[in-house]
Amino acid sequence: MSGNNTNLLLRSNLKQLRLPTIQAEFEKLAREAAAANEGYEQYLLRLTELEVATRGANALAARIRAAGFPVHKDFDTFDFTAVPSLSKPKVLELARGEWVEQRANCCLIGSPGTGKTHVATALGLAACRQGKKVRFYTAAALVTRLEEAQKQYQLERVLGQLDRADLLICDELGYLSFSRAGAELLFQVFADRYERRSLLVTSNLAFSDWGQVFQGERMTAALLDRLTHRCHIFEMNGESFRFKESMKSKKRKAGE
Ligand code: ADP
Ligand code: MG
Repeated sequence: MSGNNTNLLLRSNLKQLRLPTIQAEFEKLAREAAAANEGYEQYLLRLTELEVATRGANALAARIRAAGFPVHKDFDTFDFTAVPSLSKPKVLELARGEWVEQRANCCLIGSPGTGKTHVATALGLAACRQGKKVRFYTAAALVTRLEEAQKQYQLERVLGQLDRADLLICDELGYLSFSRAGAELLFQVFADRYERRSLLVTSNLAFSDWGQVFQGERMTAALLDRLTHRCHIFEMNGESFRFKESMKSKKRKAGE
């Protein structure tokens, strides 16, 4: 059989076996292996390594897409010195992801512009890299989604989807208050996750003010009791980073 024919058959087999990276690379790597006098196993190892690496990268990209992060902010662009109240070692410890495996929760509480969404996203990205399923919603978007699903008799399906996420991020709780029905749906999601799945909540409200969002002392107390049991709580107070940056650039311009 000619080499050409062999390659054609090989290509067809690799396609059937769904090994696109090996299919794309085997000829080039075969030439390199021959030139370097590499053995068969070495060659096969290189090919399979490439396939495994590409698959891993594709799966990660798919997990990040599915998470629905509003922006791609990571720790490399986060300036911890700007938020002295936030412990860098503790946050980086969380970025290792064990808390998600332990089904613990995390709350980031602080005034607007202090980096809550940034840190929540970076923690979510870290979890994606560890192979975990993440879903990011603002509280308002999550409630809307639940209400819509309920209207269309799809609530069970949507709750199931949320349940499959190892980490649910609920950003900006407290900016908007919900209808009683909306608050109850959100409560149901939070309560369902208790000790089974992780939840990360960011809020501009201190816990003592959550009654405004959840309406009713009893529901708020029940929710906080579950959320804050085994919870990493970070207070991010201080000046708004956006505000500080815009003041800095104004000063720079004035100095010109
Ligand atoms: P919050 O969610 O608390 O209102 P954000 O996370 O949206 O705040 O932060 C506002 C903007 O400032 C974003 O663009 C964010 O990336 C940036 N930012 C906030 N804090 C920091 C920080 N400590 N280092 C770098 N960028 C920051
Ligand atoms: Mg935010």
